[in-house]
Amino acid sequence: MHHKANNKQIDTVITAVKNMGLTAKPIPGSQRTAIGVLGNKGYIDDLNIRDLPGVKEVIHVTKPYKMVSRDFHPRGTIIKVADVEIGEGKRPVVIAGPCAVESENQIVRTAVAVKRIGADLLRGGAFKPRTGPHTFQGLEKEGLRLLALAKKKTGLPIVTEVMTPENVSLVAKYADVLQVGTRNMQNFDLLKELGRISKPVLLKRGMSATIEEFLAAAEYIYSEGNHKVILCERGIRTFETATRNSLDLSVIPLINELSHLPVIIDPSHATGKRSLVPPMSKAALVAGANGIMVEVHPEPDKALSDGPQSLTIQGFEKLMREIGKLTSFLGY
Ligand code: PEP
Ligand code: MN
Repeated sequence: MHHKANNKQIDTVITAVKNMGLTAKPIPGSQRTAIGVLGNKGYIDDLNIRDLPGVKEVIHVTKPYKMVSRDFHPRGTIIKVADVEIGEGKRPVVIAGPCAVESENQIVRTAVAVKRIGADLLRGGAFKPRTGPHTFQGLEKEGLRLLALAKKKTGLPIVTEVMTPENVSLVAKYADVLQVGTRNMQNFDLLKELGRISKPVLLKRGMSATIEEFLAAAEYIYSEGNHKVILCERGIRTFETATRNSLDLSVIPLINELSHLPVIIDPSHATGKRSLVPPMSKAALVAGANGIMVEVHPEPDKALSDGPQSLTIQGFEKLMREIGKLTSFLGY
């Protein structure tokens, strides 16, 4: 709308959009109000709208995502998990913990240590999407129970993966943030189910997904009604085999341009190599990430999954000291 458009003119446009059988979403901005139009399956003939009083211009958004785009929501979304705030302008968060929950001793020991060192949230998989069926598949429900125990001992909120739509309500009972793994980024039934709960979702980028596909996947969750979506870059498949994946750090500034959702980096799965995790964590923060998620294990050599990329407790402590200096340099 024109910056001088009055409320009556805005309401007239909203009514015109509704009369076309579509949804109108007013987006007040500092200069002017924009009105997002949703629900069309294809190109909309804007004849009924463009000449209404107060209309400045009609922009056709052809992206497969709208609600998660900056066009629809100019201000960055802040997501609250217990008393931790994730998003634009907030101190970057640190999510730490083992790849998988393996035992009570392992998860509680890790939780107590990462809490003492300064992690904001605890990660740990109970349901594990493993490449082959002959490896450790996670403790499942028992793993969730152990995560609850670790939370009780430390107060750390829990991030854990859910793999199927059927398990969303079970995992939501234990998790503070439900994770969608890279292999499930386009499991649309799972995304839709997660759109119907009120807990935050950490959506990992598919290992071969474009940014557009990534944001379109977030749109599935968002458009069902759950607006608490955190995006996570975890490396993509390229020709390179020296690292497990290739960390695409450019997604941070790019997603910040394209979307209002917070974006974090997982340097552990991105590199597959413990020694690369600290430098890439710091690079992510300099590039503007809203947080990092790193794997930490008290005895990585004995880990049932992803030992080579897991930091030791001492390694995590060193990284956190460096991050402390970096975040104060960045002004947090
Ligand atoms: C994980 O974070 O536990 C995990 C399985 O990661 P990804 O889905 O990125 O491979
Ligand atoms: Mn892992």
